Amino acid sequence: MPKANERILIAGAGPVGLVAAVSLLEEGIPVTVLEASADLAIDLRASTFHPPTIDFLDRLGIADGLIERGIKCPLWQFRDRTEGEVATFDLGLLAAETNHPYRLQCEQWKLTETARARLAAHPDAELITEIVVETVSQDADGVTVRARSEDGGTEVFTAPFLIGADGARSAVRKSTGVDFPGLTIPEIFLSLSTPFPYHEAIEGLADICYISDPEEWFVLLRTPTLWRVLFPTDPTLSDEEILDPARIETHMQAVLPGAPYEIAHKTAYRVHERVADAYVHGRIFLAGDAAHLNNPLGGMGMNGGIHDAVNLSEKLAQVWRGADIDLMGRYERQRRKVAIETVQAQALRNRAILKESDPDKRRAYHDELRATVADRDRHFAYVMRSSMIQSLRDLEKVA
Ligand SMILES: Cc1cc2nc3c(=O)[nH]c(=O)nc-3n(C[C@H](O)[C@H](O)[C@H](O)COP(=O)(O)OP(=O)(O)OC[C@H]3O[C@@H](n4cnc5c(N)ncnc54)[C@H](O)[C@@H]3O)c2cc1C
Repeated sequence: MPKANERILIAGAGPVGLVAAVSLLEEGIPVTVLEASADLAIDLRASTFHPPTIDFLDRLGIADGLIERGIKCPLWQFRDRTEGEVATFDLGLLAAETNHPYRLQCEQWKLTETARARLAAHPDAELITEIVVETVSQDADGVTVRARSEDGGTEVFTAPFLIGADGARSAVRKSTGVDFPGLTIPEIFLSLSTPFPYHEAIEGLADICYISDPEEWFVLLRTPTLWRVLFPTDPTLSDEEILDPARIETHMQAVLPGAPYEIAHKTAYRVHERVADAYVHGRIFLAGDAAHLNNPLGGMGMNGGIHDAVNLSEKLAQVWRGADIDLMGRYERQRRKVAIETVQAQALRNRAILKESDPDKRRAYHDELRATVADRDRHFAYVMRSSMIQSLRDLEKVA
């Protein structure tokens, strides 16, 4: 197996690792990506791309395949299970701020597939699969990665720099000893997909809807072929009980009563709200889920990770060309602040609005959302934040 010396090593071929790889290649820097799996995951995870993320991917030349295979959604809604529509947000207001004033509903595996094809066609890119990064160490000159190969042997890679984009359980993060403080949300999230056409059955339904209810909030997200429905579930139940077809049917009938639903995919997963204490550890940099986790309400996890990858790659390219490595500290200061103050704060607020059981507080949340969309300036400011454009504009204020 080739050794990676004069190239940047990336652990993890998820959306964040692969976007970092494409960004570095665009800067003329060779990369080697080490991926534990035999193939890239094609399960249903994130499915929303926010406007500035599409702008970034477009600049990297990997947006076309996604846009063609996704659904453009200029509108998204807060609804209430009993009252119906509460507020519809219009990303068309962002037309002067982005080349893509819509949320693109498209499965994340279509991005990894597109980025992988880019790597395959590039002479300076290497993607090694079935190699599990186990430990990392470093000295003044570079980083050493020890990884387990398919046959159980140990492979050693050295490089000037390493990006840890190896997901929530990041071996890179653990090996550096960086803490990952935060909390685990009590409820388990149940994600179901169905071919049922909710857009034909519920009048005025936007393609992205967050539906509040004191008993059981839920989310409806349209993807090119399916609708996804996300519910919170009782954490005292086993996975088997949560995924039991009869229980699932009860959840689905409560959304819209009718004929039994066809379920194409079902997953139950625990959700964490965590941010790593450090994103930069000498010559090792964390990005994406390896650095931060949050609930999916608002669709900001993968998007924030992609924004990390772009920010990190731009600065790392300057360091590669001779800038002081201290520049990487700004990556951490900028992106960690966004993870805490924008992504985590907004995702927690979205959850609070959806699950509020106090009638007065619910009414107050709903009145505030209605007042926001009724006022053009407040509406604009809201979609600047929810689309994550504002968090990128605010980066300049961080030294
Ligand atoms: C079941 C599920 C459902 C989700 N649903 C949503 C959703 O609805 N909305 C939303 O916004 N987000 C959702 N997410 C989160 C979203 O998928 C992540 O934010 C996104 O994938 C982060 O990308 P990443 O590249 O940082 O990490 P990942 O996508 O996790 O990629 C990490 C990669 O690293 C590889 N890897 C791991 N360990 C090693 C190792 N030791 N050595 C080498 N390679 C390694 C993995 O195989 C993987 O390919 C969901 C996540 C899960 C797990």
